Amino acid sequence: MKRYLSLALTAVATVAVAQAPVNWTQPTEPFHVIDNVYYVGTAGLSAWLITTPKGLILLDVGVPGNADLVEKNIIRLGYRLSDVKILLNSHAHFDHSGGLARLKADTGALLAASEGDREALERGVYIGSEDIHAMDFPAVKVDRVLHDGDKVELGGVALTTVITPGHTKGCTDYLLPVQDSGVAHTAFFFCSASVAANRLAPHPQYPGIVDDYRKTFARLKTIKADVYLAPHAEFFDLDAKRARMAPGKPNPFIDKGELARAIPPFEKAFDAALAAQEGRKP
Ligand SMILES: [Zn+2]
Repeated sequence: MKRYLSLALTAVATVAVAQAPVNWTQPTEPFHVIDNVYYVGTAGLSAWLITTPKGLILLDVGVPGNADLVEKNIIRLGYRLSDVKILLNSHAHFDHSGGLARLKADTGALLAASEGDREALERGVYIGSEDIHAMDFPAVKVDRVLHDGDKVELGGVALTTVITPGHTKGCTDYLLPVQDSGVAHTAFFFCSASVAANRLAPHPQYPGIVDDYRKTFARLKTIKADVYLAPHAEFFDLDAKRARMAPGKPNPFIDKGELARAIPPFEKAFDAALAAQEGRKP
């Protein structure tokens, strides 16, 4: 039974990787999002560039093959790769951390990442599914370990970490104060709270994962931010918002209620997945 279960899960995860959405690796033009925040990812996988007077902060790179595209986008915005001083990661899954090792080598930047995700990054594995090599990614050394509430500072710009474990052990969101037409706003770079390839029960991906998800949903409901940015384009309607960007028009990325609307569907999906994995009716 155990062997059957493990084979079945391997098959599920392998299929998930093999059927990676085409937009994950589809190039797209980099663009200005708000204030000092730029989008340098692909059509489907976010990579965020935060500019400061002392250099750049890059959050996420996407799958390993996206490193090239992200680098080209940074250069297209007029920067040099050596301008990147700090690398950050929403969470240690191959579709967001896969290109970090390449970017670190090419920029010389330091990688700051959560304590909970450090092991996954430094081993290049999906914790709890180390046998599924389709989810491996190039290992990368963490130079600074981040904890909840820590500040990542460069050139007078400070991002504050919010650690919301579950999706990974050290899933990390970031808060960043931004301005638009002289008005102060708060950007929230969401880590994710989907179940994805995670086992919740009876053999959890990591001990305590179910409690972590529950605490994370409660925590996320307390976050105040009006610019909701996320690691997958479809989480925050990237295409639609980008299409609505126009001079003199309100910035479509500012939406006071979006974060509050975004979280409940993740929680509902989590409850359903937990029930299914425990063999109950939701
Ligand atoms: Zn993930």
